Amino acid sequence: MSSNGKRIVIVGGVAGGASAAARARRLSEDAEIIVFERGPHVSFANCGLPYHIGCEIEQESSLIVQSPQSLHDRFNLDVRVRSEVTAIDREAREVVVHDLESDRTYRQLYDTLVLSTGAVPLAPPIPGIERDGHFTLRNIVDMRKIDRWIADRGARRAVVVGGGYIGLEMAEQLYQRGLSVAVAEALPQVMAPLDTEMAALLHRELHDHDVDLHLSDAVAGFEPAGPDEQALASTVVLKSGTRLPADVVILGLGVRPETALARDAELEIGERGGVRVDEHLRTSDPNIYVVGDAIEVKNPVTGQWSMVPLAGPANRQGRIVADNIFGRSSTYRGTIGTAVLRLFDLTAGCTGANERTLREVDMDYQVVHTHASHHAGYFPGARRIALKLLFDPDSGRVLGAQAVGEAGVDKRIDVIATAITAGMSVDDLAELELAYAPPFGSAKDPVNLAGMAAQNVLAGDVRVMQWHDVGDLAGDTIILDVRDDAERDCGRILNSMHIPLNDLRGRLNELPRDRTLLVHCQSGQRSYYACRILMQHDFNCANLTGSYLTWAAAQPVERCLYR
Ligand code: FAD
Repeated sequence: MSSNGKRIVIVGGVAGGASAAARARRLSEDAEIIVFERGPHVSFANCGLPYHIGCEIEQESSLIVQSPQSLHDRFNLDVRVRSEVTAIDREAREVVVHDLESDRTYRQLYDTLVLSTGAVPLAPPIPGIERDGHFTLRNIVDMRKIDRWIADRGARRAVVVGGGYIGLEMAEQLYQRGLSVAVAEALPQVMAPLDTEMAALLHRELHDHDVDLHLSDAVAGFEPAGPDEQALASTVVLKSGTRLPADVVILGLGVRPETALARDAELEIGERGGVRVDEHLRTSDPNIYVVGDAIEVKNPVTGQWSMVPLAGPANRQGRIVADNIFGRSSTYRGTIGTAVLRLFDLTAGCTGANERTLREVDMDYQVVHTHASHHAGYFPGARRIALKLLFDPDSGRVLGAQAVGEAGVDKRIDVIATAITAGMSVDDLAELELAYAPPFGSAKDPVNLAGMAAQNVLAGDVRVMQWHDVGDLAGDTIILDVRDDAERDCGRILNSMHIPLNDLRGRLNELPRDRTLLVHCQSGQRSYYACRILMQHDFNCANLTGSYLTWAAAQPVERCLYR
């Protein structure tokens, strides 16, 4: 067989699998390419599933990107749906296939095997979890079940268990569909990739849309509904004792990598439970590659192995594997975890490492928060972006970013993701030449401004403290509010002194020189100006980064004033 006349067998026909198959064909017209898919569909848009349940994507057919027939017609692929691969015989280079339609089992030879088996939704052994009306969402079949249950039974009350991406997307879409929605989350916040004060903005958004949010309150059990509750599915009982009657329950508790085939074939499995692959995505068997949700990936920021079940990495990895199969040495550089979520009127995005991760791996970091407008403030419709930038306090290397706002969040996160991938520093962010006209941005883009704020810290022009430092200040620290009266009337940090910035030069004699002044304004910009005045008059001061907006966001939901 010529090097291009390989027989490539791919297990899993959706994100990574379909991508590998199509690229393989583009590289070789001679290869025999067989795709086995357990389900009835290949190449569908898993990421779009919640939006069909919420009727935002009207036609189910819009989610089906390709069919076995269209993949055959365009790419000459042999796609076999309803075909589950049950074992790998590495010695014989064969897979065992169970044809679920005919119940026939047969063996299929391969030269190269690609596994893109994805992940399985978690369903921990919570009492009653298997009751009718409880659903996980992974594929079109799951989506139809949820859709029919809601439509046929007239479901009105939904409980979403888990506040991750899929849980929140489902909460939004069920609300759009007219259901009342409760979300139960065991952690003190939704969206674990965000740090506390950023996730708090999403809590507010849920609250504003009457989503009944229960944080730090895991599900204790699912019980049959009591006579007063009349729930169609069950009553969700939380650890606190709260009872949430549910006509439909969505379990969004995360996923675990689907590694049964790889484990049984004794391929190396990493400490996080995913298949361990090298930079070419090759397993411990050189004839077998694995991509997508099933593998562990290196995080280039922390150098740690991690599980990042996202569509972008799976699709890119599929392409890389095909390149390697056909002798083009192609390497996967790791996953930095760039992600974005729409939640009602807000967008939340993140890239790189968050504070929690950096603490876990014991990496030093510094933080700045900014609240710049997504385009010129004077142009109608400007919206603030809460942007958090994490960077190395010595080299200034960008380590991570999180952003929440009504507009322009995805663009800034993507720019910073590019910067992280390129190993850029905050100096580079400050210098980036980004597109500007008033409807699109500002002459100093929010990304530039975040870079400049970080530069100021690195240069020693200002010391910053974070919102959580306010809670445990030493007795010798005074909080100084330099906002205008009207802003202060809308909310203040208790026990703070007040001198508006414009009055500061004339009132320096009111300030003690033997105390630390923690200065804040609304967003952190005027308090930086104040700090520069104070420092040049030999006061000991620090800027509350992100200032009142960030501090208030992290307070209990009623007190959050961010918009
Ligand atoms: P999949 O695309 O899941 O494909 C795996 C396929 O393998 C499955 O169809 C499965 O049936 C098949 N399979 C498994 N075992 C076998 C076997 N033994 N034999 C035959 N076939 C088998 N990511 C984002 O980046 N952005 C988003 O907005 C986003 N939204 C999402 C929303 C939902 C509801 C879901 C479920 C996921 C979402 N994701 C999102 C995640 C993204 O879809 C996955 O990361 C991506 O699909 C992983 O690709 P994969 O090829 O590894 O697995």
